[in-house]
Amino acid sequence: MASPLALAVGLGLGIAAFAPGADAAPPAIAPPAIAPGERPAEGSTEAELWYGMDRAEQELRGLPQVERDAALNDYLRDVLCRVAGPHCGDLRLYVLTVPEFNASMAPNGATLVFTGALLRLRSEDELAVLLGHEFAHYRQRHSLQQWRASKRSSATLGTVGLATLGAGVGLVGGVAQLAGMAGLSGFSREHEREADALGLEFAAAQGYGPDAGLALWERLAREEAATVGRRRHPVFASHPETEARVEAHRRMATAAEAVPPLDLVAERRERYRAAIEPFLDGWLSDELTRRRYAASIQMIGELHADAPPAWRGRTAHYLGEAHRLRRGEGDAAKAAALHAEAVAAADAPTAAFREHGYALRAAGDAAGARDALARYLQLRPDAPDRAFVERDLEALAP
Ligand SMILES: [Zn+2]
Repeated sequence: MASPLALAVGLGLGIAAFAPGADAAPPAIAPPAIAPGERPAEGSTEAELWYGMDRAEQELRGLPQVERDAALNDYLRDVLCRVAGPHCGDLRLYVLTVPEFNASMAPNGATLVFTGALLRLRSEDELAVLLGHEFAHYRQRHSLQQWRASKRSSATLGTVGLATLGAGVGLVGGVAQLAGMAGLSGFSREHEREADALGLEFAAAQGYGPDAGLALWERLAREEAATVGRRRHPVFASHPETEARVEAHRRMATAAEAVPPLDLVAERRERYRAAIEPFLDGWLSDELTRRRYAASIQMIGELHADAPPAWRGRTAHYLGEAHRLRRGEGDAAKAAALHAEAVAAADAPTAAFREHGYALRAAGDAAGARDALARYLQLRPDAPDRAFVERDLEALAP
């Protein structure tokens, strides 16, 4: 949801200082929507913007955080192409392994989706609305308008900015810079409202549910509410007030005339689950590296409640880990209950047995602790902490 300009920022092109803030006024005259296959006129401001984006994309392609799994990429690209229609051939999609809610579409068609966003979506319908929103920013040339506005408001800086873009500055090292990009720049509120409305329209035209945006934003709002008083969720830095956005989605969902049949929605939810299932363990593990446990507990807690039975060993384990790592009042007991729930499920990660074992030890159940720790070592012969766990097992011997 970050401005495509921020893509260049994230890639070290050094234009952060020239990007206007979230309240920047849009220009009076909006350019026409970009046509399929259209390229900017040579020597135009738009051509310079594209040049910078092309360079940033080249560098992005080589990053180790790009998820190259063919099945996942094919699936996401298929949904993107449904929403973007005849523009499909102009767009390239990149999945970045970053545990933040974010997606963007640069003016040159480079589309980024963070794995943190994929983990927070529940269905193909929500994915279509998210991609539709980014496609709307692209199709309406919002970045160009923002870029022109920033040049008008600070002519000198604008010139320097373009020079910097043209020169290209260094390769980006880590994913931290990319993850930070959501907060660096933003579209105007008017552009966000337009992208919300158009995105929903593009998705609905392909038969996706008009209430998918509402469900998504209500869920993100609950995660935001869980972090009040802590660091704000990055996605909200570049977007209108969450409540206003939720209300707008509610109005649009209520006004929609065509609602897809429930069995079709269910089929698409299953398709979405099947696409992300192979990554669930890794993405949940990545989520905990943010060390924002209140948000993670809210987010994984909802995922655990919504999860199909085949996922519940994993969702219980990582929800348990979020509680264990937070160390707040009552967290140890909640973690113990969740790890016990996890080990009873068929898809329990092996680490769940270790955590269950230590929770039982803390509760004074030596025999239960021995069983769980022995099971952990049995399931994971190459466990990196084998020596430590064996020592603890010996100490627990009767
Ligand atoms: Zn947006």
